[in-house]
Amino acid sequence: MFLLAERAPPTRRPGAAVRAARRAWHDRTVRKDEGAATTSAELRAHNLARLLRAIHDGGGRLTRAELTRQLSLARGTATVLVRDLAGRRLIEELSGMADATVQRTRGRPTGVPSSHPEGPVALAVDLRDDSYTVAAFELTGRCTVLHRQERDAGSGAGVLSDVAEQLRAAGRRFAGRVVGVGVAVPSPVNGGAMVQPTLPDWQDIDVAAALGLGHAPGPVLAGNDATLAGLAEARRGALRGVSVALHLHVATGIGGVLLSGGLPATGAHGSAGEFGHMPLTGGEERCRCGCVGCWELDAGARGLLRAAGQAEQGDRVLQAEQIIAAAATDRSAGRALAHVAKALGRGIGSLVNALDPEAVGLSGLAARVYDAAPDLVTAGYLSTLMRFRRDSPPALLPSTLGGISALTGASELVFDAFLTARGLGAWPAPEQKTA
Ligand SMILES: [Zn+2]
Repeated sequence: MFLLAERAPPTRRPGAAVRAARRAWHDRTVRKDEGAATTSAELRAHNLARLLRAIHDGGGRLTRAELTRQLSLARGTATVLVRDLAGRRLIEELSGMADATVQRTRGRPTGVPSSHPEGPVALAVDLRDDSYTVAAFELTGRCTVLHRQERDAGSGAGVLSDVAEQLRAAGRRFAGRVVGVGVAVPSPVNGGAMVQPTLPDWQDIDVAAALGLGHAPGPVLAGNDATLAGLAEARRGALRGVSVALHLHVATGIGGVLLSGGLPATGAHGSAGEFGHMPLTGGEERCRCGCVGCWELDAGARGLLRAAGQAEQGDRVLQAEQIIAAAATDRSAGRALAHVAKALGRGIGSLVNALDPEAVGLSGLAARVYDAAPDLVTAGYLSTLMRFRRDSPPALLPSTLGGISALTGASELVFDAFLTARGLGAWPAPEQKTA
């Protein structure tokens, strides 16, 4: 009997080990940020950041009592901190009869601190070579998609200036509330620049500079889209509470990330996780990246198109999805899906041997392929898994965030910077003069 997970995601809360790792990371961040919290003002700023982080991580669903326990705060201290955060428009905690109407309209229980309706906003961009999406995230992860532009955006430079215009419009809409911009890009990232993007126009482009956001309130932070998709699944999706997780995002190519305690291992330069450019399925062909025999030639959208004998034209992911949809009725599409499903599984097995995760998250086409051919993916997976792991193979967990995973990860970059004593020190932002 395989121990692969059912489609329903785990709903368990982060385990003690995960919470401890996050707390240690947060403490390190704050210490580096502030120096040791020695004065009572510093201690208070430190505790405000910890509490707001816990409210954010809990998705605005934890009661004040649960938060107090989780952070080992005295009840009186928690009361003072909640009042302080609420007074600064960071959170809203509904309580008692006076709030009954608000509670009904906003659908929240009382005694649960959550995002303030005029609180901080992280703008997020999911940049692709043929489309982009701009969204706004409130604390606790609530997402509003503001704009989505498909395909006809013209040149790479044209796409970036369109995105910049949309971000300026979003800045006016959320005047005084924007605390930063996170951008998910289809490239490994080094120091904020795209170092090997899918579009040649974007080679070595500094994302913040190209978006013309020199005067943006808060930082402009770029990350690889697949890495950010994994970060999002670990914080808010299928991998929540998993101590060590491998996430794989398949689009045109294959990327991903290894996360420990919800924290991504991004490498010395921020460009780890290029799993698609490993020769996991033993081919000999040269890849667009400059290597030979890359996994993505067999298991990405390109692999599916090649196996189906189709030329690449326009949106390769859309083409790949059409092949998957046709696989049940079209013999050539069925063969292509079978080839890719096995190749996907074999690569996953090799990576599990190397990295020893507790579970493996799948998003993008990886989730689609697994959904369409779970037995073939599993057969490939078990065939490359070392014998001692086969009785209890790490579960394969399809994404629960779907199309907003990279956006969600981009917003988390912004909130990671904001939810520190120093980040909170800059809030509320001075009123902006907008036209
Ligand atoms: Zn390659």
